[in-house]
Amino acid sequence: MSSAPSESLQATIRAMRHAFAVAAAVIALAAHQPAPAPYDLLIANGRIVDGTGSPWFLGDVAIRGDAIAAIAPSIAGPAARVIDVHGRVIAPGFIDIHTHARRGIAQAPDAPNYTRQGVTTVMEGPDGSSPLPLAPFLAQMDALKTSLNIGSFVGQGSVRSAVVGDGNRAATAEEVQKMIALVEQGMQDGAFGLSTGLFYVPGTFTPTAEAIALAAAAGRFGGVHESHQRDDAAKLIDSVNETIAIGEQGHLPTQISHAKVVGAANWGRSVEMLALVDAARARGVDVTIDQYPYTASSTSVASALMPAWVLEGGRQATLARLKDAGSREKAKGGIAAMIRDERGGGDPKNVQFASCAFDASLAGTTLADLTVARGRAPTIRNAADVVMWIVEQGGCQGIFHAMSERDLLRILRHPVTMIASDGEVPVFGRANPHPRSYGTFARVLGVYVREKKALTLEDAVRKMSAAPAARLGLADRGVLKAGMRADIAIFDAAAVRDRATYEKPHQYAEGFSHVIVNGQVVVENGEMTAARPGRVLYGPGKGRMPRP
Ligand SMILES: [Zn+2]
Repeated sequence: MSSAPSESLQATIRAMRHAFAVAAAVIALAAHQPAPAPYDLLIANGRIVDGTGSPWFLGDVAIRGDAIAAIAPSIAGPAARVIDVHGRVIAPGFIDIHTHARRGIAQAPDAPNYTRQGVTTVMEGPDGSSPLPLAPFLAQMDALKTSLNIGSFVGQGSVRSAVVGDGNRAATAEEVQKMIALVEQGMQDGAFGLSTGLFYVPGTFTPTAEAIALAAAAGRFGGVHESHQRDDAAKLIDSVNETIAIGEQGHLPTQISHAKVVGAANWGRSVEMLALVDAARARGVDVTIDQYPYTASSTSVASALMPAWVLEGGRQATLARLKDAGSREKAKGGIAAMIRDERGGGDPKNVQFASCAFDASLAGTTLADLTVARGRAPTIRNAADVVMWIVEQGGCQGIFHAMSERDLLRILRHPVTMIASDGEVPVFGRANPHPRSYGTFARVLGVYVREKKALTLEDAVRKMSAAPAARLGLADRGVLKAGMRADIAIFDAAAVRDRATYEKPHQYAEGFSHVIVNGQVVVENGEMTAARPGRVLYGPGKGRMPRP
């Protein structure tokens, strides 16, 4: 039995094929169309989570140069290179809107702690603290050849320190004008907006009206405001109202950085925080939130556990105060209260040292351990003495276990909350940094999407990509779409996980097979490549005049 077509049918097919080929050639000639250029890279067979929150779909992503050329259920090619991802997730590269990357990025420009968890852009200049002026810093980042993109805010605390100093006093009208000029310069240098750190010295000495005046200056260039709020503990609600007021009266978008509720006495107040955010949005204030998925925070021991009056005016002034018996006793009372009710988490064992410049061996131990090592019972008041001793020795960075999982979850689920690490670029193996630098994005995907099912995969990715891109006004990143820059994270949704812990933080996240920045592969089969395609990103005021 033969199923071959008859000779006459074969002749007809041949004739038809010839006719089609001639017609195609005529059309191509008429349109002067060359054959399609091959793609540089074709990522095939993925679950595409495009960043918008839309449900995933099976498909391919094609890249030409630094941009996404096509996305479709099936792309034929040709392509110089094909990566078959076998059903793994293809997502936009993550945009970390709140980092301290300048701590360490010069030593580790490949920033593997970030790229190995899918982060392709980091924002610097948070918490009111930025290089000033900004332009030389951005030029330095440009020359550094990083693996990921980097942008910056201009910091209100840095501006105030330069003009007013670190003392507790109101600025004169003339000083306010000087500060506004520095913010305008920052925006023209390429900042994405103004960050405030009203928790820190000297930000804490800033009247709200002054913060509004400076934020408004950033807003006239299209910038946004983000704030490490004045108080995340007893005065949390006043602080949320202040962050909203800065946006509402300064006429610009405003964001609560690393939203948290500190101190057991305040746990549960995320309900009020989010109600205030919802009410503000209902009346037209563009207020948003970012958060890291941990119940411990990290900053200097002095900032976390010493009242601001002790720190006023800088280190020499602080040391002089601690030498005075009367003010030392008063400081001890204030520190004990902060250990009991605020970042100390009610017990010296809830304060862990990330690094101490004067004694590297303290990294990873606790304030309770150190109090005992100094021959004292680990009570709160004895620990307060040790905190003053630490500051006199040169200070430590600390990790403060003082938040609740319920508040964390409530904030995480809110639709305007995006994910940000508040991390840095650790030198691998050195000190005992907060695990957020290595694990934030992987932890959300592994723990809060897969295990706890607190978020859908699509919503989690949106909070890491399209949401921060929209906040920053990055129109060409954060969403997988033809024409967008090719920043892409590819991971196994079933295997992605953070491995960094408070005890052993220097562990890279797992599950990311490929990470692509500006079309170049920076992580391949889970390992760093030699590519350094990162770029400096500039905000909306770069080289512009303010709008009236
Ligand atoms: Zn902060």
